[in-house]
Amino acid sequence: TLARQKTDFVSNVSHELKTPLTSIRMFSELLAEGRVTDRAKQRSYLGIITAETARLTRLINNVLDFARIERGEKKYTFQQCDLVNVVRETADAYRPHLEAGGFQFACELPDAPVFVNGDRDALAQVVVNLLSNAEKYSDSRKEVVLRIEAQTSPLPCVEVKVLDRGRGVPKGCEEKIFEQFYRAHDSLSNGIQGSGLGLTLARQIARAHRGEVIYEPRDGGGSCFTMRMPVMGSEK
Ligand code: ADP
Repeated sequence: TLARQKTDFVSNVSHELKTPLTSIRMFSELLAEGRVTDRAKQRSYLGIITAETARLTRLINNVLDFARIERGEKKYTFQQCDLVNVVRETADAYRPHLEAGGFQFACELPDAPVFVNGDRDALAQVVVNLLSNAEKYSDSRKEVVLRIEAQTSPLPCVEVKVLDRGRGVPKGCEEKIFEQFYRAHDSLSNGIQGSGLGLTLARQIARAHRGEVIYEPRDGGGSCFTMRMPVMGSEK
């Protein structure tokens, strides 16, 4: 079991590093080709590379923290932050990757800020994991929606939803997918790479914020993953 978990751990690490690396590679290649001559675009690409590099560093630190997370000793830096801003920045960084893959990506975010007591990097990591899954488990209908909704009952909370039109989670696996290393779509039979850690981390992070991540099948086909967070001032 130990040997197996070690192997799994290596693939988990790869999974967590892949998204920012893909983004950095794509934008540096675009700049290296020299075809982007617009100064503003160049600056924005460099900005994304810098931001993604920083996130990579943070992810590596998170991975180094993995044993601590498992022991329940992971430290979060909680502070007042605007969840809309965190989600928007994450979506902006991920959008070029999705669009390059032929996805239609709709972002439905409110104009007004929504303040939560949260760790920005950790919350961004949840959103990235959900977006990355929406991308991975979509088949021919490449449509992803990212939405923020305010809920008032039973307690004021905010929901970040990632919806896709993919294959959905097979019946009976709706809770198992949150277990570490569990994969409902076997990579041997369908070629989709993964470590089975993304949702485990997403749920652990949400729960550390007194929130939750849940799965629901989407009307008309596909998945709906929701990260629910208490808004500032409503936490017990
Ligand atoms: P990974 O994607 O690396 O396998 P995750 O923990 O992120 O690990 O997800 C666990 C499993 O949940 C996946 O293997 C897949 O079977 C299922 N899953 C996750 N997201 C989706 C989605 N958007 N649509 C359908 N199935 C999903």
